[in-house]
Amino acid sequence: MMAFEQTPKKDWYSILGANPSASISDLKQNYQKLILMYHPDKQSADVPAGTMEECVQKFIEIDQAWKILGNEETKKEYDLQRHEDDLRNMGPVDAQVYLEEMSWNKDDHSFSLSCRCGGKYSVSEEEAEEVTLVSCDTCSLIIELLHGS
Ligand SMILES: [Zn+2]
Repeated sequence: MMAFEQTPKKDWYSILGANPSASISDLKQNYQKLILMYHPDKQSADVPAGTMEECVQKFIEIDQAWKILGNEETKKEYDLQRHEDDLRNMGPVDAQVYLEEMSWNKDDHSFSLSCRCGGKYSVSEEEAEEVTLVSCDTCSLIIELLHGS
């Protein structure tokens, strides 16, 4: 039985008050502004305990968000995850396909598969290691990539 719990997903961009398309330097600006605003040391001594706790919570979240979005590598990973979530929300997966079932294109080092709409699913060799969902380049169908053992 699968018993693991999924950690609730947080939208790190909205925590930093930014768009997913924001540049790292924009994100940094927002982060610096917010981290000052919510810094526990910056709160006046007479704020109610509950408010103080919220601030600390917020402060931690902002810090976490920046740890993820302020780093090229983790940002890329997070963006990919977001992208997959978006795809999942778009509709049901049309088919499950093993990478071996896709055709390998030597020229651009990618795998591809024809969609029934006539379009093409394609994924680069590098992406194939990480992504599990691939969308058709023409229609809105999605396939799930299975990683064989
Ligand atoms: Zn298609």
